[in-house]
Amino acid sequence: MYDLLSELFPICRSITGDGVRESYDIIERVISLCRTEVATGTKAFDWAVPKEWNVREAYVIGPEGDRVIDFANNNLHLLGYCKPIVETMSLSKLKEHLYTLEDQPDVVPYRTSYYDENWGFCLAHSQYASLIEGDYKVVVDATLEDGSMTYAETLIEGRLDEEVLITCYTCHPSMCNDSLSGVVVATYLADYLRQFDLKYSYRILFAPETIGSITWLSRNEARTDSILCGLVVTCCGDSGKLTYKRSRRGDTVIDVAAEHVLRHSCKDYLIEDFFPYGSDERQFCSPGFNMAVGSLMRTRYGAYKEYHSSGDDLSFVNAESLGDTIQKYIEIIDILEHNTTYVTTNPKCEPQLGKRGLYSKIGPTNPQSELIMLWLLNLCDGESSLLDIAEKAGSPFSSVRRVADNLVKHGLLVKDDLE
Ligand code: ZN
Repeated sequence: MYDLLSELFPICRSITGDGVRESYDIIERVISLCRTEVATGTKAFDWAVPKEWNVREAYVIGPEGDRVIDFANNNLHLLGYCKPIVETMSLSKLKEHLYTLEDQPDVVPYRTSYYDENWGFCLAHSQYASLIEGDYKVVVDATLEDGSMTYAETLIEGRLDEEVLITCYTCHPSMCNDSLSGVVVATYLADYLRQFDLKYSYRILFAPETIGSITWLSRNEARTDSILCGLVVTCCGDSGKLTYKRSRRGDTVIDVAAEHVLRHSCKDYLIEDFFPYGSDERQFCSPGFNMAVGSLMRTRYGAYKEYHSSGDDLSFVNAESLGDTIQKYIEIIDILEHNTTYVTTNPKCEPQLGKRGLYSKIGPTNPQSELIMLWLLNLCDGESSLLDIAEKAGSPFSSVRRVADNLVKHGLLVKDDLE
């Protein structure tokens, strides 16, 4: 994942353009993708797909004749969706179009102007402060014209048509934790899942944030009824603790499964209620959809100082954190896949466990699993799923599943699933 992230990092991506397509070409070396090109002007609910933006070069030449700001050195230097311009101007006029972070003077901020045609450059405040008086030539050789927006998806088919949606956004230029870490986790999650015989189908969606998910929803509205739940994958690679942001409904199967995994991870973690800013969960959890979509991250966007700046680089993320995050996604999916409902074959009073060798005769030898067994035999009434029972018993899902399997072998439980 870290190698893929390193390869994607230098590419200038945005909500449209060839950088996004080039990124999908690279991802396609790992998994196959089905791409959709949506023409500029296409309506999507209250939005329309914007013009397509591509940059050949962009720089500012200072009074001494050298390039003082150059997009070729770091694509964050150019305001996202910057319109083409060639103009010579004074330092004070130039400064009206320069963006810096005064409190972090050595990093380049990430700024965009998608829906308001503008031009500008971003730079370190320390450099901004050292610019000398004189004439500056601004050159932005870019195109901002009718074209299309690209999104891509892959469907890993399970036994059921019911889907789990895993979604990430591909619109950020050179930033690692925000956006790209989610892209590589989603890619390798798809690569991992496709080797199994799965119960649910898994749709992995790569799209620009906001306009991409809005457009996808507008074109797939009928499909949303068959989406059981989903997760927005982002901020997966920093060394902070895991954060789960709940769906708008807050108590759906994905919320319970994600929180269950974090609670039993033996590590510190954070749970946040849904709030209506952030990433694409804003669209999936808008009132007209209200889908069971949460987001599993490490340190949330906006909560680390490197967020939306050149500080969010290859040194801010690491392979261990990416590995730990994907492991948690796999554990959540493992719960979804095996969250069966069982029915006891012996509902009238407890079955005699001792005669089946399931209960120690002289005091408990494995009190934890014996307790789980009692929970299962009591709650397997067709109403509670294995996850419900694991939550009530305060035991890890994997342990409850193992004990349930043993009770099935002894004929004390039977599956109540339609599957
Ligand atoms: Zn962002």
